Amino acid sequence: MRVEQLGEGEPNFAVVGSIHGDEPCGAHAIETLLDADLSIDRPVKLIIANERALDRNVRYTETDLNRVFPGDPDADAYETRLAHELLKEIRGCTTLSLHSTQSYSRPFAIVDETGPLAETICPHLSIDVLVETGGFVKNTLVGYVDVVEVECGMQGSQQAAENAVELVQEFLGAAGVLSGPVETETSTVPIYQLQRQIPKDPESSYAVHVENFERVDAGAPYATSDETEIRAEEPFYPVLMSSQGYERQLGYAADRSGTL
Ligand SMILES: [Zn+2]
Repeated sequence: MRVEQLGEGEPNFAVVGSIHGDEPCGAHAIETLLDADLSIDRPVKLIIANERALDRNVRYTETDLNRVFPGDPDADAYETRLAHELLKEIRGCTTLSLHSTQSYSRPFAIVDETGPLAETICPHLSIDVLVETGGFVKNTLVGYVDVVEVECGMQGSQQAAENAVELVQEFLGAAGVLSGPVETETSTVPIYQLQRQIPKDPESSYAVHVENFERVDAGAPYATSDETEIRAEEPFYPVLMSSQGYERQLGYAADRSGTL
């Protein structure tokens, strides 16, 4: 884990990149920020989290870091110890954590639930939507600190790397970290709330026929598993849905729950 800081004093803000080692956009954004000669009003901590997995271009080396929070300093698995160390670094910091996906090319944000944090930060970010996990996905970072996770785009893409740089600048602007006049363009953001996982058999091969965040009607075929069509039993909005993203789930089914 690489921990850097811009500005003097104890930071109340942090940016975390590459919790997943095969998502280099976060590390890229942090390195870009460190190379830029920014003038800073408030200190911010910058963390490249899973360097070991990043070096190997794998999601994780022993266990998925974003499924083992709050971690354990005595655990066998490297990422479980790292989760503990990372939480120690960002406790008390309003944090932006940068990810990328295999399911959607445009940026979107993920929070535990909508509250003052999301309301303060998210309207300033160039995101299509806000996803509330509502404690639904267990042991992810959003359950343990004041964090907005952003999915910056397609994993490994140049666009995700560029989006990550832009999202970090918007976050630092909204947080008052950057000195000088900051563009404060805000926009309305639709909110989606996760309802359930859509399971996947790791032995089968899948094709997904719907777009993330676009409503799937009851009865509509949304995927194919080894030639067999899978139809929606009830209407839902797909989130983080892709044939390749996860081993045991296609993604999540969500409801629309208003706008920010
Ligand atoms: Zn990730």
